[in-house]
Amino acid sequence: MMDISYRSTRGRERDVTASQAILKGLACDGGLFMPDRMPKLNLTMEELAKKTYQETAYEVMKLFLTDFTEQELKECIGRAYDDKFDTEVIAPLVKADGAYYLELFHGSTIAFKDMALSILPHLMTTAAGKNHMEQEIVILTATSGDTGKAAMAGFADVPGTRIIVFYPKGGVSRVQELQMVTQKGDNTAVVSIHGNFDDAQTGVKQIFADREFGRRLAERGFVLSSANSINIGRLVPQIVYYAYAYGQLLAHGEISDGEKIHVTVPTGNFGNILAAYFAKQIGVPIDRLICASNDNRVLYDFFRNGTYDRKRDFILTISPSMDILISSNLERLVYISTGCDGEKTAALMADLAETGAYTVSKDMKERMTDFIGGFATEEEDRDAIRRVYKDTGYVMDTHTGVASAVYKKYRADSKDETKTVIASTASPYKFSRSVMEALKGTELPDDEFAIIDSLHAVSGVTIPKAVEEIRSAQVRHHRECGVGDMEAVIAGILGV
Ligand SMILES: *Cc1c(COP(=O)(O)O)cnc(C)c1O
Repeated sequence: MMDISYRSTRGRERDVTASQAILKGLACDGGLFMPDRMPKLNLTMEELAKKTYQETAYEVMKLFLTDFTEQELKECIGRAYDDKFDTEVIAPLVKADGAYYLELFHGSTIAFKDMALSILPHLMTTAAGKNHMEQEIVILTATSGDTGKAAMAGFADVPGTRIIVFYPKGGVSRVQELQMVTQKGDNTAVVSIHGNFDDAQTGVKQIFADREFGRRLAERGFVLSSANSINIGRLVPQIVYYAYAYGQLLAHGEISDGEKIHVTVPTGNFGNILAAYFAKQIGVPIDRLICASNDNRVLYDFFRNGTYDRKRDFILTISPSMDILISSNLERLVYISTGCDGEKTAALMADLAETGAYTVSKDMKERMTDFIGGFATEEEDRDAIRRVYKDTGYVMDTHTGVASAVYKKYRADSKDETKTVIASTASPYKFSRSVMEALKGTELPDDEFAIIDSLHAVSGVTIPKAVEEIRSAQVRHHRECGVGDMEAVIAGILGV
């Protein structure tokens, strides 16, 4: 089989190996890396149905990471998907309320980010070895709450790496914040910024693009990389669970071989749903991809009228990990829809940077019809959580609630009864206050841990270790900074 190489969505960088793309994170022209062609799964769905999560991971990842040896990949997979997860199946599928909830939150930080971030550090250190890299890798991460913790859990005390996380002050849940500021590991640093997630993400991207700063770091033996979903090393492991879910549905007799399913994904940066699209491209029988947004419904508007317009108020919601107006990974879909034209994609992204908006052509829009946009308001999110609990006893988090509400509206409007997998992206405990308020229908008094205990009483679900840990953990990180000071803060942390 011929190796897959990676190229930038903005056309100025190409012929990059998978391991180099993982090390770099972002291409040097500011674009995102894409494979030069779409590989196909070389096993039948019947065969897929017999595979464990780890075996499925190998079948999928070997298609994209072609410069990793079989042994390297299997070692990375074995070290990632082990007893850090609280279930052997890694990503259980729960049938409830006429859909299949694919629970992606059984890893160490109880959000779906663990699915990719438990393997990324292993892929990265393997890639560093393969490319004879001598510098220390500095992972820069902007987080809307979940990526930061999951990345730190993965990279803490990994030799040859440092990790610096920026999160929006006041823009994450109490549990998310406590999880981050109590992080251990001498190579970890956490900074809250006086801005929102888009400010953090844009700041990080600007630092990547600052060549002068890059040179300064290189002189001191540092090289920057990213753990955000712009890194192909995040995207590829996320394809795995959609293939696995299909295999499980088949294995449990819920679908027939080849039967098409829909997937509904609560979306922010467009990484998770893009992985589902890749799963479809490699041959998993997926029909539609229902993209669920919260009140920051920029993607809903985009799929409706072809204009991506971030010029609107940034709304803080009870699903904070989806509070995003610049969905970075959409650039990859835009690139595909241009027929892989780097120049066209670069021009649209320049429009976005300069004017805050871009509009795709009719042709491009027609190539995106696999996607259906939907959104749920705060009220609809709360109602979905409460109703599904009342009807079935199943408790979901506020992000999954958005997906659940959007799917229900889609089904009612379209009368489409196609079996549907809903990506369940976080444990309800991670957003216990909002979840309990949705269940009770009122606001609750202050004590976060009292709320956690009452969620336990209501749901009967064991309180995850990740939550028990922060009850008594010591706060270790106190840094704050303004949006314009991120580079200076990094320089301070690294001593350059
Ligand atoms: C990150 C996150 C999302 C959004 O995923 P994207 O890949 O950014 O679209 C949804 N829910 C939760 C709980 C998350 O942490």
